[in-house]
Amino acid sequence: MLTIDQVGTVVLRRPAETVPAEQLSSPEVQRLIDDMIDTMSGVGVGLAAPQVGVPLRIAVIEDRKEYQRHSPKWLAEAQQRRPVDLHVVVNPVLSVTDPTPMEFFEGCLSVEGYRAMVPRASGVHLSALDRNGRPIELDASGWYARILQHEIDHLGGVLYVDRMVSRTFITTESYADAWLDEPLDATRAAFGLSPNPS
Ligand code: ZN
Repeated sequence: MLTIDQVGTVVLRRPAETVPAEQLSSPEVQRLIDDMIDTMSGVGVGLAAPQVGVPLRIAVIEDRKEYQRHSPKWLAEAQQRRPVDLHVVVNPVLSVTDPTPMEFFEGCLSVEGYRAMVPRASGVHLSALDRNGRPIELDASGWYARILQHEIDHLGGVLYVDRMVSRTFITTESYADAWLDEPLDATRAAFGLSPNPS
């Protein structure tokens, strides 16, 4: 297991570097990818290399069905959250295909103990390489599009706190106790926001 750097660590704020093909196939980088997968497993839906102190454009992503067990069904539907199989993205480039903003609470393994509402585009296109250097081209929507935006932000030194609606910044404990089951409109009103993301 790798140590996950917390906000305040400089590597989280530096743009990561493109991984050359010969470096991607090296035992060191393949080992890093395996260790990132092990470190993410059971605790998060994505992990970017800068979060484990390595300034390379690599992220691992997996959203298991079991991760939704604490979420009300209506919320998973509103979030358009569907399971995503484990995969690795190297040197990813995202383009927005549907800019319609969706605002939901999200968290980050590098900002432990907090959540905030973050507006994200509803749809994106991903161009990347897999861990074997083969090209990936895919379209993502809903929660998967959010995960991709969050992880690829990490590769540019950007954290969700740079994009959040700051008045919704709360502890994970408060989120679980008071807001997880609350209808979205009521939550937005309680935080002084308009009913729909703008
Ligand atoms: Zn994160």
